Parts: sequence; structure tokens; C-alpha cells
Amino acid sequence: MSARKTAAIIGAGPAGLIAAERLAQAGVAVTVYDRMPSPARKLLMAGRGGLNLTHSEPLDTFLDRYADADQRLLDTIRLFPPHRLVAWAQALGQATFVGTSGRVFPKAMKASPLLRSWLARLAGLGVAFRLGHHWRGWTGDGALAFSTAAEDVSARHDAVLLALGGGSWPRLGSDGGWTDLLRERGVNVSPLQPSNCAVTVAWSHHMARHEGEPLKRVALSLSDKTKRGEVILTKTGLEGGAVYALAPELRRALAEGAATVYLDLRPDATAGELAERLREPRGKQSMANFLRKSIRVTPAAITLLNEATKGKLPQDAQALAALTKAVPLTVTGFAGIERAISTAGGVPLSELDERFMVKTMPGVFAAGEMLDWDAPTGGYLLQACFATGFAAGAGMAGYLTQVTAGQEQPNPAV
Ligand SMILES: Cc1cc2nc3c(=O)[nH]c(=O)nc-3n(C[C@H](O)[C@H](O)[C@H](O)COP(=O)(O)OP(=O)(O)OC[C@H]3O[C@@H](n4cnc5c(N)ncnc54)[C@H](O)[C@@H]3O)c2cc1C
Repeated sequence: MSARKTAAIIGAGPAGLIAAERLAQAGVAVTVYDRMPSPARKLLMAGRGGLNLTHSEPLDTFLDRYADADQRLLDTIRLFPPHRLVAWAQALGQATFVGTSGRVFPKAMKASPLLRSWLARLAGLGVAFRLGHHWRGWTGDGALAFSTAAEDVSARHDAVLLALGGGSWPRLGSDGGWTDLLRERGVNVSPLQPSNCAVTVAWSHHMARHEGEPLKRVALSLSDKTKRGEVILTKTGLEGGAVYALAPELRRALAEGAATVYLDLRPDATAGELAERLREPRGKQSMANFLRKSIRVTPAAITLLNEATKGKLPQDAQALAALTKAVPLTVTGFAGIERAISTAGGVPLSELDERFMVKTMPGVFAAGEMLDWDAPTGGYLLQACFATGFAAGAGMAGYLTQVTAGQEQPNPAV
């Protein structure tokens, strides 16, 4: 690039930082802005769960996890696939391993060493950080408008990437405030909705004593979809991998009212096998002890069986086996967006050109969770954030080269 162009990255999460790295490597002078006093707070929070970076399954299976995804998202992940993300983490000194579920984690099982080493690499590439800068949109004359604790400031760059995240866990920085700013500029933003999120179930106080207890290796069904995994009991409902994996179906069902899901407490046994064990004589054992030993269910699962039958467990072995295989639970809604792991909704990929530039806003790009795609937990979220951030960084570098060559008009509004 002959004249050194400048780029603003707004949002110091994984999508913004990988774009910053890509741009700085292309010789662009990059400034990263974030409203928080330190970068990548959500990535650090994800690290508390071990930092599930991506998944080791075959790429086609991996891509199937993105429900109803725009083909462009899938093509973008193909260009920055899981093995490339793993190689990138390893180059930062973070060895990875594949867990029993096929999920990929850094050996450190947290994000802080990876982030430290990444920030050092970015500093080496000359990337500047302006933290505590809350982006508020554009000034009347088209500069980027920020507010800091002390004052309002403005900045001009040759291109800008919005990598502002979704709307979950707003205290970590991403509060979805950008949706109105883009709508005001005519961008067709889909409403942000909680995803990978707890659901509420109307149940009695009896369940509260099992708050936080996992039901492992269960299966949860809604209509014709069944997801295996873990379900965790909360005071007001359920969370965990199997619940998150049903989010798209739950969202559709809840749009029409409450949804009944069926929990299979013993998916590896048939109803016939369970009934046979339940026909064995109970002797003097309490019902709870008998169930625990004969069909190997936990006390929390037994409370759940009682809850579903209002304390009147069927006495007949076959009926009890059938109940164990399909405990009906009425889901009344999603718990708040504040504690969702991610959000669905955002900027549809159809609003972006092939470089990830907003079609109606030359020089303004978007990437990461703020784009309208949805995926379950399992490493799919970070993978898509990294892949779209990388693609947007490459797209911006290409755009800036064209501006330099006079083949693209710089946008006066940037
Ligand atoms: C508890 C938890 C655990 C998770 N675990 C995993 C996991 O193990 N694996 C996985 O794949 N995913 C996980 N995720 C999801 C993953 O962390 C996110 O999908 C990912 O961080 C999104 O990246 P992003 O760069 O798009 O946005 P973010 O990481 O949200 O970063 C956006 C940045 O933009 C800044 N910002 C927002 N608005 C403004 C503004 N107006 N002005 C200035 N700055 C602004 C924010 O401060 C933030 O730093 C988890 C999420 C949570 C909440």
C-alpha cells in the first residue's frame, strides 16, 4: 500500500482483534476502540468455562450446526476453518487439546494466556488501543463519535469495522446499543434475541433445592428434534448444552405460546429395559432408593419425575418407564438476555457485500456476533466470530488498496 491508510476497529472482542491483526499485517495503521477499560472481556468470561475455541468434527458436520445459516457464513468459515484457528492459537504459544466430546480447548483451559500473547503480537504490529471509548455513532460532519469518562471525542479513519458483539451479558461491554445507530442509517437489523440461554419452566419450590445440579447424558426433545447432552436445573427452569441446542426450535415454538419439551432421563436404555428393571420387587426400599438403584437416576431426576406428576408417580412399571423416557416440561420462555451465552439476530449478511462492507455505507464493515447468525455452544460461536473477523479484515485491506489506487471512492462519512 503506497500511502498508509488508517482503519478503526470498534469492539475489542475476538472478531475485532483478529481483523486488527489481519489489517496491521497488510500495512494498515489500525486503532482499536472499546467502551470497556480493558479488551475482550467476553472472551475472558468464556475462558472461565475452559474456552471452547472450536470443534474437531469433520467440517461438513461442523457447518451443519449453523441452523438456517446464510451460505456466505459457511463459505467464510471454510476459508478460516477450525484447523486454522487451532494453528493460530498454537502460534500464540497456546497448545490445544480435543476433549472427549470433540470440543477443542487450549491446554491452559482459560483465555488469559492466549489474550496476553495476542495483545503482545498486536502491539508488535503497531496496533493502537483507545479503551474507555464508547462509540455513539457519527458526528454531523461524518466523523466517528465517541464519549469517554471525561469528554466527547471524534475520529476519522479511511475505513471502520464495527465488531460490537451481540447483546448478552451487557456488563461485559456488548449491550446491543449499536442496533439503533445502524437502523437510523437505514440498515435492516434483525432484533437481537437470547440464544444459548436458560429457559423458564413453571415449576414448584420443590425444584429449588436442586438448583445448579446437572442431569448428565440426557436427551431433550421438542417436536421432531432431539438433542443429547447435559441439562442443568436452575431455580426457575433449565439451562445447559441440550437446552441451548434446541434454541432455534424453542424460539419458533415460544413465538406461538408455551412449548412442551420432553426430557429422556435414560436415553441409552429402551422403555422395555427400564420397565423390566422396575418390575423387580422393591422390598422395603423407599421409592426414591428403588428408582436410584434400579434405573440409576439421581435424586434431582427423581424430584423432577415427582414434579411432572404432581407427586403421583405411576405405580405401573411400564408407565413409570415411559415417564422416565419422556418427562413433559412446559417451557414458558427464555430467561433474560443478560445471562444468555449469545444472541441471535443482528445485521443480516445480505446487508453486506462480499468484503463484509455494509452495502449502503461504503467504508463501514461489520463482523462477529453482531451479524445475524445463530449456533449452539461447542466452539461454533468463537469459530464464526474469528472467521468473519478475519474475512472483514481482509475485505477492508482490499478496499483500502482500491481507495489508494483510486479505484474506489473514499466515503466522506467515515
Ligand atoms: C459466559 C459465556 C461463555 C462463553 N463461552 C464460549 C465458549 O466456550 N466457546 C464459544 O465459542 N463461545 C463462547 N461464548 C460466546 C463468545 O464469547 C462470543 O460469541 C464472542 O465473544 C463474540 O465475539 P465478538 O468479537 O463478536 O463480540 P464481543 O466479544 O462481545 O466483543 C465486542 C466488543 O465490543 C465492545 N462494544 C460494544 N458496544 C460498543 C460501543 N458502543 N462502543 C465501544 N465498544 C463497544 C464491547 O465492549 C466488546 O468488547 C461465551 C459467551 C459467554 C457470555
